[in-house]
Amino acid sequence: MTNESRAVLRTIEPGNSAICPVCDQQVKFQARTQGKQIICNVYENGTWQRVEQYHLACYDEAQEPYGAPAT
Ligand SMILES: [Zn+2]
Repeated sequence: MTNESRAVLRTIEPGNSAICPVCDQQVKFQARTQGKQIICNVYENGTWQRVEQYHLACYDEAQEPYGAPAT
């Protein structure tokens, strides 16, 4: 395995307070809609840098900067 940035599709957890870097809005848990989010582990030069959390629609809009999400 190489240390490359990757994205996964996840259900938004209650209490999540991450800010989506695309729209600058909180990635909020919504009980009714079972919201989905994209969680990205971002690596630069093979070294882990950070986790970014996106709304599913925003990640699409940004044209999947870290590749197609794994489920
Ligand atoms: Zn967003």
